[in-house]
Amino acid sequence: MSFIEDIYKAGVVGAGGAGFPTHIKYKANATHLMINAAECEPLLFTDQYNMENYADDIISAISLAKSEINADKATIGIKSKYIKSISALQNAIKKQNADVDICSFDSYYPAGDEQSIINEITGEALPAGKIPLDMKIIVSNVSTMKNIYDATRNIPVTEKCITVTGEVVCPSIITVPIGTSIKECINLSGGSSIEDYDVIIGGPMMGKLLLKENIGTTFVTKTTGGIIILPKDHKLITRRKQSIEHIKNQASSACIQCTFCTELCPRYLKGHPLKPHKIMKAFGFGDITNENLKQASLCCECGICELYSCPMGLSPRMVNAHVKIELRKNNIPRENYITDEIHDMLIYRKIPTSRLISKIDIEKYYKIHDFNILKSDTDTVTIMLSQHIGKVPTPVVNVGDTVKKGDVIADLSIDDMGAIIHASIDGKVTEITNKDITIKKVI
Ligand code: SF4
Ligand code: SF4
Repeated sequence: MSFIEDIYKAGVVGAGGAGFPTHIKYKANATHLMINAAECEPLLFTDQYNMENYADDIISAISLAKSEINADKATIGIKSKYIKSISALQNAIKKQNADVDICSFDSYYPAGDEQSIINEITGEALPAGKIPLDMKIIVSNVSTMKNIYDATRNIPVTEKCITVTGEVVCPSIITVPIGTSIKECINLSGGSSIEDYDVIIGGPMMGKLLLKENIGTTFVTKTTGGIIILPKDHKLITRRKQSIEHIKNQASSACIQCTFCTELCPRYLKGHPLKPHKIMKAFGFGDITNENLKQASLCCECGICELYSCPMGLSPRMVNAHVKIELRKNNIPRENYITDEIHDMLIYRKIPTSRLISKIDIEKYYKIHDFNILKSDTDTVTIMLSQHIGKVPTPVVNVGDTVKKGDVIADLSIDDMGAIIHASIDGKVTEITNKDITIKKVI
């Protein structure tokens, strides 16, 4: 089988973001393969765990991928403070005599934004509205490379490594079958240490809110990287619960047009025509025809403006997310954006991780570095059919079928933008809906 077929058959998708199907990404040719190992969301340690424990696999996969896309160079972008990870990667590079470089940089947020990685490695900025391939670059997350390595050995993606932290008895790095409930992941880590909590799935800055009452009916997918348990009154939780009406009222009554949100915006600083203070003004006054609103489509929703910059506690990021949805609904096309020079202040306005964690009030959780390493042995999984960008695969099993871990349970063609789904445990299919497939162990 070819490299692309291996990845397709294993159902690999980008492990660090929205889940772009990897076999589609690697069909292209590029001159530079960049590996995103920055893991910039505070509190997450999953990529570091993978680098420290699977460096040989990761470097092998990088060499294979580099040759597949005919790249001249492969560079891993990583924070210099990840000393153990860098050492493991350097040893693997030496052992394999691999032609892979390491580019290290300071610990700031959002170092792991694809555009920051490109800027750190090349010194250039990706023009606004363009994708890395427009610069002949392919960027992949470091944990995706581990899955690519497994794929070349016919091991499909059936497990997920996740950081479970915050208000939990034993902060842990857990490995669980895909389809394990979030509740079970929290229980595996000793349960929550408080009664009144909600959960963030992903990192504290960009992760999604999950209410406590829904943890039993929400399941691990191929892109779940973090489970953070926080008190219900923590600002990272309350911020995410604001209604768009409330946000709009705030924008019209409390935005003082200080421009701090723009001055610290990493996309603006890379020369993109994105000025969140202008979007706030137009949105606050209900000026839906204002041309400035179109800039919102350039926002990566990193949350700096909302959780770090704004002195008034307003939410430009949530406004941008809302405006983006409205632009799509109304079929308003993207602009041909004109990108400026990189701002002279970019290097001085990177947000140090230490300052960020203090500002968003997570210092007490950040200090826990001594994680437990746990593996789950769940007896029921509910596997989502849509775990990635693109087409939803079609179930190829029936209720009552016996399946083995690694069997294909939902399929699509290699030319489809999507990913195959596999059984993550041995068992019997007990339910199939248009959203998911449930498998129970037979005892
Ligand atoms: S930082 Fe806050 S107050 Fe200042 S312009 Fe932006 S949204 Fe308005
Ligand atoms: S969330 Fe705010 S700071 Fe981040 S890219 Fe969007 S506008 Fe800029």
